[in-house]
Amino acid sequence: MRSYDYLIVGGGMTADAAVGGIREVDPDGSVGLISSEEEPPYDRPPLSKGLWKGGAEEDIWRTAATEGAELHLGRRVVTLDPESHTVGDDGGETYGYRRLLLATGGSPRHLPGAPEGVIHYRTIGDYRRLRQLAEEDRRFVVIGGGFIGSEVAAALTMADRDVTVVFPEKALCARLFPAGLARFVTDHFRERGVTTRSGESVTGVTRAGDAYEVALGSGESLHADGVVVGIGIVPEMGLARDAGLEVGDGIVVDAHLRTSDPDVFAAGDVASFPHPALRRHMRVEHEDAANTMGRQAGRNMAGADEPYEHVPLFYSDLFDLGYEAVGRADSRLDVIEDWREKYDQGVVYYLAEDRVEGVLLWNSWGQDEAARGLLRDRSKVLPGDLAGRLPE
Ligand code: NAP
Repeated sequence: MRSYDYLIVGGGMTADAAVGGIREVDPDGSVGLISSEEEPPYDRPPLSKGLWKGGAEEDIWRTAATEGAELHLGRRVVTLDPESHTVGDDGGETYGYRRLLLATGGSPRHLPGAPEGVIHYRTIGDYRRLRQLAEEDRRFVVIGGGFIGSEVAAALTMADRDVTVVFPEKALCARLFPAGLARFVTDHFRERGVTTRSGESVTGVTRAGDAYEVALGSGESLHADGVVVGIGIVPEMGLARDAGLEVGDGIVVDAHLRTSDPDVFAAGDVASFPHPALRRHMRVEHEDAANTMGRQAGRNMAGADEPYEHVPLFYSDLFDLGYEAVGRADSRLDVIEDWREKYDQGVVYYLAEDRVEGVLLWNSWGQDEAARGLLRDRSKVLPGDLAGRLPE
């Protein structure tokens, strides 16, 4: 049995950042990393952004291996026994640990009945398959109008493919943007050549040879050479649950990113952590959270004993539109829009019980610290107080 001072389950950005965090505190301890992916850790955002705009694959790889972690790739951890401090993988190997990190992330939610070949977009393997298809074929259907749906639809369109994006909401990114902005973004996609099918469900996808038929709730059917699905992720918390650790919407951790077992930590997409500004447990499924939480978990595994205090942001680029956001940017909250120029540059505030829960900075850069400050200040605000509140 191999044993490590620090063992990491998962091979994403969180896992990689944790290796860096461990090394900041303990240059010599042994580190093992077990990942079901065949590839070592890499940056995920370029898969739906930079790699479609001329970025190079060789630039996305991260540094866990060069920082001395032993990588066990193509292995899925299937058992965790906190009592004996061991995990077991699907190849029958057992690994011992002193401290363990669960950085298991999430799996793409599957479209029921989707045939072989439909891409539930998440990994570099998915990127490579889509890239190859986009070189050979023309017509693509993208299912889902959230982060993956909007970014992949834009990417394929920039690669000069015919794209139809199908989603149940009235507009793209409707969960995030207030209605007018979501309509504006959807119109922008149409102007760029994307066909949008809003308010539409997918009732089934069938495959005939190399082509697909996507059946819609309206009775219509779309032909495609490739189908991409981005309908959310399901956090991978089965290991933690089966081991008797506390789970809720994710694996529950304290401010130090410790689970209910003191030698087991969790971070990234899968972790339900006490948000340092909003002061309640939540999960955040974005790059900045993966990087900063992973690093902090690594430091704490190695004994730093520091709270996770960073307020993570997220961002996206949609053609030439771009934004950053912090907190809970959810259009179902009370929304206050403060446009310098309507839909060109401005700030959207999301409020619950008169407190700022989220801030969206639309084509407005360098204000993320000020936005974090608004979130941290839990005092009640009047809508009129917010106009012009953030510096230009
Ligand atoms: P997402 O952003 O949660 O969007 C999923 C979308 O699919 C939502 O609009 C959802 O609608 C819709 N949906 C859910 N079930 C559906 C169904 N059966 N049929 C059709 N639509 C359905 O998730 P994602 O786009 O799949 O992204 C996956 C993960 O990657 C997320 O964790 C995301 O945060 C992350 N990601 C982040 C970025 C970024 O930060 N820029 C970029 C790419 C990916 P409802 O909301 O109504 O359920």
